[in-house]
This record gives sequence, structure tokens and C-alpha cells, in this order.
Amino acid sequence: MASAQPTRRLRRPLIVGNWKMYKGGRAGIELAEACVGFARDLRDVDVVVAPPYTALAAVAETLDGSPVSLSAQNLYPASEGAFTGEVSGAMLEECGCTWVIIGHSERRQVFGESNALVADKAAAALRHNLVPILCVGETLKERASGETLGIVERQVEAFLDIIAQSTKPVAIAYEPVWAIGTGRTAGPSEAEEVHAAIRSWLFKKDPALADRTRILYGGSVKPENASALLACPNVDGALVGGASLDAASFGAIASAAAVTPAT
Ligand code: PEP
Repeated sequence: MASAQPTRRLRRPLIVGNWKMYKGGRAGIELAEACVGFARDLRDVDVVVAPPYTALAAVAETLDGSPVSLSAQNLYPASEGAFTGEVSGAMLEECGCTWVIIGHSERRQVFGESNALVADKAAAALRHNLVPILCVGETLKERASGETLGIVERQVEAFLDIIAQSTKPVAIAYEPVWAIGTGRTAGPSEAEEVHAAIRSWLFKKDPALADRTRILYGGSVKPENASALLACPNVDGALVGGASLDAASFGAIASAAAVTPAT
């Protein structure tokens, strides 16, 4: 039976907007301004936006002094050097980023990023005071063949020692590949099953790590499905792609996270 008293969330909800390769110029500044507008009215939720590299510096200025934080979508593990086209953690830190998305499935699938490279990037992020948002998730074929937990466990295993050796905060985003940008979403029970498993692997390594790590769900999160997903006990927030490009939709998702669930 549902309790009359709202339960408190164990971890502060976190809503991250991944703008992907959109909103790289003036449009990015306008979207950031709109995010600042809605975030000022929200309590008890962290809001982060991840514009493309070309918009980072300008968006950093827009967000200055606001409750919205800045993330990059990727980094290169070395601090500097002859790595044409790459951007380091040091550069992101200097530019005002405090977060960075690592190992997004588009990076893994389109650019062939391995679990080992994701782990190197996680270490680089922590060295440069960036909170890594470490993405994991299975493909449709892997889910269909019952491999979901095995695949996700291997992805988490790859960076587990690195995040356990640090006391700095990290976030993990469970993003089933088949749900990203497709309009298909994992149902709350499918999401909760994987989130609870991730939490248990963290707990085995270090109970304090399990306690402080926010595990986000990503994959076609929209205002219509956000509340049900965010009500799951091990879902601490959302990594939002398409819907984060529209301030009204992103704001509605962040508002859903700010409301303490009543179960
Ligand atoms: C993402 O880019 O991380 C994502 C989850 O995209 P979408 O919300 O569009 O599925």
C-alpha cells in the first residue's frame, strides 16, 4: 500500500541534456538561457546541459552564476599533445565544464570506443575535476539473447576500479542502445532491474560508492514517461537526448525529477 508520507530520495536527482551534434552556435546560447529560466524555479534537482564543443565557451558564460551546470559530450584521455581534432579534460575544465559524458553508445558504436578507452577517459575526467557520466547499455540483439546483465556488467567492470579508487563523485547512465533516439523506452521494471544490478556491483566493490553514485536512465525519456521511470528506487535521474533540445520538454522532465515520489 502506498504510504501517505512522501519518501525521501536517497540521492539528489540529476537530469542531463545531451545536445549531441545540435545547437552548436547562437541556438545553443538561446537553449541554455531557457534552461536557466526553468531551473531557477526548481528545488532538489541538479540540471546539467551538454552542448557540442563549439558552444561550450559561450554556454559557460550564459550559465555562469545559474543553477545549471555544464558538461562536455566526450574528452580525450591525454592532457595535451599531437592529437588533431581531440579535446582534453584540462581544456574542458578551463572552459567551465564540471561534467563530461563518457562512452555514450554513439561513441562506442560509431567511433569504435572500447571498454578500455572508456576506462582511460574516466580516469582523465577524475584527474581534471570533471564528474564523468559513464554510459553503459546493451544492443537489441544482446537483450534478445538474454545477455543484458552480462554485457552491462562487463562495461561497468572496465571502470569499476578507477571510480572505486577515487572519492570524487561519478554518475553512471544506463542507456539501452535500442531505446536511444528510437522512441522506444525501457519500461520502469526493465530499467529498475538493470539499475538495481549496477547498484549491487558497486555495493560489492564499496558500499559507499553504491550509496553516492547516481545511476541515470537514458533512452527516449520524454515528459510523458519521465515520472514513472524516475519513481523507480534505483533510478536517480535521466540522460536525455532528443527531448533536451526543447526547453519546455526538458524543463518538464526536470520538474518531474524535482517532485519527490509518493511511494
Ligand atoms: C542520449 O543521447 O543519451 C539519449 C538518451 O537520446 P534520446 O533521449 O534521444 O533517446
